[in-house]
Amino acid sequence: ETIGENLERAAARHRDRPALVDVATGRRWTYAELDAAVDEVALGLLTMGIAKGDRVGIWAPNRAEWVLTQYATAKIGAILVNVNPAYRGHELDYVIRQSGMRLLISAVGHRTSDYRAMLAEIGYEDVVFIAEPGWDELVAAGRRADPATLRARAATLAFDDPINIQYTSGTTGFPKGATLSHHNILNNGYFVAEGLGYTEADRVCLPVPLYHCFGMVMGNLAATSHGACVVLPAPGFDAGATLRAVESERCTSLYGVPTMFIAELDHPDFATFDLSSLRTGIMAGSPCPVEVMKRVAGEMHMSEVAICYGMTETSPVSTMTRRDDGLTRRTETVGQVMPHLEVKIVSPETGLPVRRGEPGELCTRGYSVMLGYWEEPGRTAEAIDAARWMHTGDLATMDDDGYVNIVGRIKDMVIRGGENVYPREVEEFLHTHPDIADVQVIGVPDSKYGEELMAWIVPRPGATPITAEAVRAFCAGRLAHYKIPRYVHLVDEFPMTVTGKIRKVEMREQAVGLLG
Ligand code: ATP
Ligand code: MG
Repeated sequence: ETIGENLERAAARHRDRPALVDVATGRRWTYAELDAAVDEVALGLLTMGIAKGDRVGIWAPNRAEWVLTQYATAKIGAILVNVNPAYRGHELDYVIRQSGMRLLISAVGHRTSDYRAMLAEIGYEDVVFIAEPGWDELVAAGRRADPATLRARAATLAFDDPINIQYTSGTTGFPKGATLSHHNILNNGYFVAEGLGYTEADRVCLPVPLYHCFGMVMGNLAATSHGACVVLPAPGFDAGATLRAVESERCTSLYGVPTMFIAELDHPDFATFDLSSLRTGIMAGSPCPVEVMKRVAGEMHMSEVAICYGMTETSPVSTMTRRDDGLTRRTETVGQVMPHLEVKIVSPETGLPVRRGEPGELCTRGYSVMLGYWEEPGRTAEAIDAARWMHTGDLATMDDDGYVNIVGRIKDMVIRGGENVYPREVEEFLHTHPDIADVQVIGVPDSKYGEELMAWIVPRPGATPITAEAVRAFCAGRLAHYKIPRYVHLVDEFPMTVTGKIRKVEMREQAVGLLG
């Protein structure tokens, strides 16, 4: 099935049920209205001459037109290119050129002038601005067009056509354009919804970005596949607006990365919101502290909240916790492999499966694995082997019940004097020190041991800044000697990607300079 066919089936089945709410503007669509509005945009794109396989970008914060564009491009077989709203000139230029973008859809908002200036600077002109004449003309042209042209296009589409280019976060280097098909992402959305037990009674609140698979696949496609309703609380993340939307729209499900849930729980008016409609949701992207999980399950009523692990290249979800998993499994694991997918953990050296409980590279295979990196066959061949396994570059363990734990990234593993050190283990231990607010551990070159450990520490405000000696004394006798950091570097914050992930690559570069 294609994404367009899936939406049409949902529209036929759930006609007058709510499909989409844009809380910021107060607009709402039923399934029949959503499908009709999508057709207008799709027909508008056809009148502009957008061919099957043309790349159409979207560079906009969360708003209803994002969803319309997502479905409209899928209906005409154009390849949607998600552009991160936080991208600036350099990154924007890269994705426009790399994808060979035919048209960019962008949005009016508080950053519109920036957007316009940045586009002018890189000399890109094929832009339609939402909520401006350009978008209205597109929709008006669609209304005048002959619907038969859309039916004719639909007849040329196949379920495994490329439909979407999503750039990875760029945590370990330059973003790579993961190319995904209808089949890849529609199925992943469907199985995420199955895992959460969605029905047409569910109302899914999405403060997470739509440009990322978290919003557009685990949110939009999951909801539509089960006739649930998508609620967009605000164009950018806003804890108060999210809590208000959950209350006023009686949402049953809420998504977020751990920091979003923390901001909501710590909101000054948190106690005044009625969140009793919530039952489930997803927390993903990075490990979740136990205390936060307890409060989300208790104070936010999300007793069934799921933890997911995945990556852009795998549509994204590979493992997920179950509805009946206890708190420990939700905080100490990322769940079990998704239905119809395979996961194995292999030794990075030999490529053979490791014993249960031992760390190795997580590989995944099945419908979710991307078609490849856009116009980068070399990098595709490095990531997907001849047997179709996607090598994730993540280190993980799997227990006897099949629950997976993410240990870190292979590129971040430190080999000191022949011993493998997983920085996350050392970071978690150092987190227990009262004067340390946050900590990251990296490997730096060393002539004697090959690599030595360096801890970057954000001191707790008010505490005496911690010294390397104090850190070593704290670790002595409680961590194996080769896991104890030799160097300590005090910082206010860590180098981050635009999506908020810590860039250890950059930390390593800076560290080499620091050590002279
Ligand atoms: P790039 O590939 O460009 O370096 P990236 O890998 O950060 O960037 P994404 O595809 O957005 O880009 O992120 C996927 C990665 O995020 C995974 O490979 C994994 O390292 C990490 N990750 C995802 N979910 C979890 C989770 N639940 N717990 C821990 N880490 C996670
Ligand atoms: Mg990656």
